[in-house]
Order: sequence, then C-alpha cells, then structure tokens
Amino acid sequence: MKLYEQQTIVILTKHKKEQVIQPLVEAHCGGTFIIDDVFDTDSLGSFSREIKRKKNQLDTARQKIKQALKRNHASIAIVSEGSFGPHPMIPVPWNVEIVVLVDKVNHIEVIGVHESSNTNFKHRVIHSVEELIEFAKEVKYPSHGLMLRPDHESHKMIIKDVTSDVELIDAFNRCLKESKHNRVFVETDMRAHRNPTRMNNIQKATQHMVDQLLTLCPTCQCPGFVITSKVKGLPCECCGEPTQLVLKHIFTCQRCKYQEDKMYPHGVKSEARYCDWCNP
Ligand SMILES: [Zn+2]
Ligand SMILES: [Zn+2]
Repeated sequence: MKLYEQQTIVILTKHKKEQVIQPLVEAHCGGTFIIDDVFDTDSLGSFSREIKRKKNQLDTARQKIKQALKRNHASIAIVSEGSFGPHPMIPVPWNVEIVVLVDKVNHIEVIGVHESSNTNFKHRVIHSVEELIEFAKEVKYPSHGLMLRPDHESHKMIIKDVTSDVELIDAFNRCLKESKHNRVFVETDMRAHRNPTRMNNIQKATQHMVDQLLTLCPTCQCPGFVITSKVKGLPCECCGEPTQLVLKHIFTCQRCKYQEDKMYPHGVKSEARYCDWCNP
C-alpha cells in the first residue's frame, strides 16, 4: 500500500503549482487531494513586490503550511516557495525552489530543494517599443509572462497578464504615459502559472521531496528519514589532509531519532584544487 492511500493532502497554491506537485505525489504516495487556491499566498509576499516577503523562504513556506492545515482541517499539507536573485558566487541568475510537506500523522517535515541557473529572471529599463520587443524575445515571451511599470521597480501602477503583442505594446504605451522620466520598467513574471521554466524547477524540487519522504527509517520504518547534517573533511587526493568538501551525511529519524552516517556522498577523495594545503 502506498504511504498516503488513506489520507487527504492539501496543496496550497494560488498559481496552479498543483499541476506539477500533485501528479508526482499521487504517483508515488497515493492520496486524495484538496487544492486550496482561495488563501491569498501573496499576502505573505509576492514577486511583483506589491507585498514584501517578511520572513525567509523556509519560514514563509512553514507559515503557508500552517494556513493550509488550519483552513482545511487537514493533517497533511504541501506548499512551495521560490526565490530569485544573483548566484552567491558567480554572476548568473539563480532560482531556489523549495517544496515542503508537513505530515501531522507521522509528525514529520520534509523539504525538497532544487537550485538552478535555468531561469529567465531578468529586468530592464526601456524607452521604446523596439527595446521592449527585444527584451520580450530574450525572456521567452509570450510562453513566459511579463510585468510592466512606469519609471521604476516599485511604481504603484503595474500591468501583468498580457498575452499578446498588441496587449504588450498597449501596456508599454500606458506605462509610458504615466512615466515622469519617459521610461518603462519591464521584468519577467515569476509567478509559476506564467513561468513554465520555474514550474519545471518546482517539479524537480517536488521529486526531491518525494524521494526523501519515501526514505524510511531502518529501525522504525517512519517515512522522511532525511539528512540532518553534513560533515566536511573529505581527504585530499594528494596530501590526505581534510578539505572543506563533504565527508559524510548524517541521517536522522524524525520519530525514533535513530541516526545513520552515509560516508562519501560525492566520492572518496577531494581533488587537490579544493585543498587548502595543496592549492592555498
Ligand atoms: Zn525511526
Ligand atoms: Zn592536499
């Protein structure tokens, strides 16, 4: 029998994320699904900057979970939360998607993560229809959405959900008319239902969540036997000294607290270029 065959699972989403979350969870875990698209998840922060996200990504997801459980009198809920920005080390745009499941029957929380540079996340200040068309092409419009504002990123007038070139040019002209400086701020719409690239990353985070959920504790068979810490110190291939790379993962059961080490998750030796002694 599948894990959730007898259970009801709430997916809280305003932007159609159930399209990628539900099929995967259903295929691997079973369950009956409730899609809660009534709760305004944007009230906890939106990508269009109308409402700033007050908490970090995981805490925001946990807040959504709380709402999902309470509103639907449910025991199991799934939510997703994304973030976008520059990569912390290299100059590429970076998308981090998390998909969180909380199961009050088994008292577990499982967090699926997918990080990727595969995102069209971008913005530009433009002055002409030509620039607009060029930007639109670069960011995969019209399969992916755009948002426009007069002047700057926090102008209170915002136009989104344009789906044709005629609407797009009309939106540009309306923004230009409102602009004090004769320019328009245009950016990619990162809401999942208007961004198939992001939707794909959410699907991968869902798969990661499901894989972890279905990893059972070897002692008590509780689902969600997950990595709780990573220990650094993989030995260098040249000098054998410990490096900053991961030596082992520690898995912990969320029910009985049984722990297991998994050695060498990324290989048994570190390349010398990661060694502080051989390559300072
Ligand atoms: Zn256990
Ligand atoms: Zn070394």
